[in-house]
Amino acid sequence: MARIGFIGLGIMGLPMAVNLVRAGHDVTGFNRSPGRTARFAEQGGTAADSARAAVEGAEVVITMLPDSPDVDAVADDVLTAAGALWIDMSTIAPATARAVADRAHRSGLRALDAPVSGGEQGAVEGTLSVMVGGAADDVAAARPVLEVLGKTIVHVGPAGSGQTVKAANQLIVAGTIGLVAEALTLLRAQDVDLASAVEVLSGGLAGSAVLDRKATPMLTHEFTPGFRVDLHHKDLGIALGSAREAGVPLPLGAAVAQLMAAARTQGHGDLDHSALLLVLEQLAGL
Ligand code: NAD
Repeated sequence: MARIGFIGLGIMGLPMAVNLVRAGHDVTGFNRSPGRTARFAEQGGTAADSARAAVEGAEVVITMLPDSPDVDAVADDVLTAAGALWIDMSTIAPATARAVADRAHRSGLRALDAPVSGGEQGAVEGTLSVMVGGAADDVAAARPVLEVLGKTIVHVGPAGSGQTVKAANQLIVAGTIGLVAEALTLLRAQDVDLASAVEVLSGGLAGSAVLDRKATPMLTHEFTPGFRVDLHHKDLGIALGSAREAGVPLPLGAAVAQLMAAARTQGHGDLDHSALLLVLEQLAGL
């Protein structure tokens, strides 16, 4: 069992760190807002009062932070854990992931980018899909830890590739939410029974994990996150930035990014990303 330092105990990080404790690992956690660290301690983890204290003596360091600058902000502390394997599971820009891996290697650490999909439910149940970028040996070393957190763990290529795959994932999810929101808005405007419509749509080619998990809360306007609009807006920025680097047009991704931006300006940044429905309803005058 490994000695693990875990930084970032938010919606995703807390249940992931708790699953590692339950699997028998020795996990020391740190979160910037101390209430979350206290919740981790209540569930069997060891609380640290700084990132540096969390990683002291760690064989594995896991970061689960909101965005690229947050990962950069803890890098100096993580790099004090010489010899450790740093698995960054946050969703950040591929270029930042590559830079972080470079810095880690120069400081005598191994590093992987291992962003996840599957949401809070996947984090709680330990069924996340994990897209891993880095060296094959390091992926093999990380696998026993990653298998506690996820069900589908795939090595997709060298450093940064995990983040590129995650950007693709976020395009698909945002586009699907956008079209589910448009479909529900159309159905509602035409006075169709929404629950019956969702039931039959789910059984055909329109069926999806988004429809299964998000349609019912969308029908009842239950937008507790889950995955916040602010974070999905950040991810679409990452996808569009990567597309610009690669010279690839993403017309639908750009459109859904604008809808996500509108959700933020309308004050929905802290709601679940399915709150995109509120923007569509407003456009429709509903
Ligand atoms: P969150 O905002 O709930 O959690 C992030 C946590 O990091 C917060 O508790 C915050 O206080 C803490 N934090 C920020 N800076 C810190 C620092 N310097 N040191 C210590 N703690 C710090 O976000 P989340 O929903 O848990 O998402 C985390 C990452 O996972 C993001 O990159 C997100 O895009 C990605 N993700 C989220 C979901 C989801 O459904 N929520 C799904 C897949 C991937």
